[in-house]
Amino acid sequence: MCPCRRPGRVGHIGEGLAGPTIIAFGTETQKQRFLPPILKGDELWCQGYSEPNAGSDLANVRTRARLVGDRWVIDGQKVWTSLAHVSDWCFVIARTEEGSQQHRGLSYLLVPMRQKGITVRPIQQMTGTSEFNEVFFDGAETAAENIVGQPGEGWKVAMGTLAFERGASTLGQQMAFHNQLAQVIAIARRNGKARDPLIRQRLAEAWIGLQIMRANALRMLSQADKPELPREAYVSKLYWATWHRDLGKLAMDVLGPEAEIADAGDYALTPLQQLFLFTRSDTIYAGTNEIQRNIIAERALGMPREARG
Ligand SMILES: Cc1cc2nc3c(=O)[nH]c(=O)nc-3n(C[C@H](O)[C@H](O)[C@H](O)COP(=O)(O)OP(=O)(O)OC[C@H]3O[C@@H](n4cnc5c(N)ncnc54)[C@H](O)[C@@H]3O)c2cc1C
Repeated sequence: MCPCRRPGRVGHIGEGLAGPTIIAFGTETQKQRFLPPILKGDELWCQGYSEPNAGSDLANVRTRARLVGDRWVIDGQKVWTSLAHVSDWCFVIARTEEGSQQHRGLSYLLVPMRQKGITVRPIQQMTGTSEFNEVFFDGAETAAENIVGQPGEGWKVAMGTLAFERGASTLGQQMAFHNQLAQVIAIARRNGKARDPLIRQRLAEAWIGLQIMRANALRMLSQADKPELPREAYVSKLYWATWHRDLGKLAMDVLGPEAEIADAGDYALTPLQQLFLFTRSDTIYAGTNEIQRNIIAERALGMPREARG
């Protein structure tokens, strides 16, 4: 079987986001409790950040949590929560200081998903699948000790998770990108599109983009011992997301009219059709391209901060 058709890792949100966050900010007890089942793939995780009015403006989170005895009690709603329907745990950003605004007064809670206070409602995507969900918290509970960092300091932890999400967690996906490009090239050779000079040029550009991603990853990793994120790390998300979206378009142009054909009955899309549709979301999740450009301007280039209300 072509390597690009093998399944990805099912526990990637735990392995790439929850695990590194717990290692960086969690207590010894949390490390012992949560890391082994993440490593073994016994417990799956989801990310409870976005809300109907808190996406790019994540600090606008409205989900609330209050400490009642030895439990956090959580009320509110998350949205676009990938894999919530199969997850055992969710890391949730919630407002724990009443009346607090923006990034102040937020806490980072680890919440068990399988409980009566949580309702998961799937959102159907254009691929026909429902990978992400709305998640409703209605008196959901978690133990008081399931907080990462101090109460009210959740923003710092949440930003740490985002740094993992935009950077290190995506390094492994370069293998998948490599395999997808190889599949596009193989089809172009087979159906003759490789003789079209414009397609050839785009294939070459895609290959060059992969080498640039690899070089940038090595450049970042070589500075991994420094306390500050190297400035070049900030371009990573914008670069891979745009590259991958363009690969999706290239795949459709290489397939030609065949790209338009799908069985509408059961959404039996081919892997390249799925690639095209899914890559439309790459420039949105983990921070949109526009937000990445703001971050590059402000944090990497030191330009004045955007005016915020
Ligand atoms: C496939 C997929 C999976 C996801 N999985 C998860 C998940 O598991 N957990 C989770 O919490 N979230 C998840 N998300 C949500 C994702 O993080 C948000 O969609 C993203 O942060 C954008 O927020 P929004 O959709 O509310 O758009 P908005 O923030 O409303 O943005 C709308 C548009 O306005 C632009 N915009 C907004 N603010 C600015 C600004 N200051 N400057 C310039 N332009 C701006 C944006 O770039 C965008 O084009 C997922 C999204 C997708 C597509």
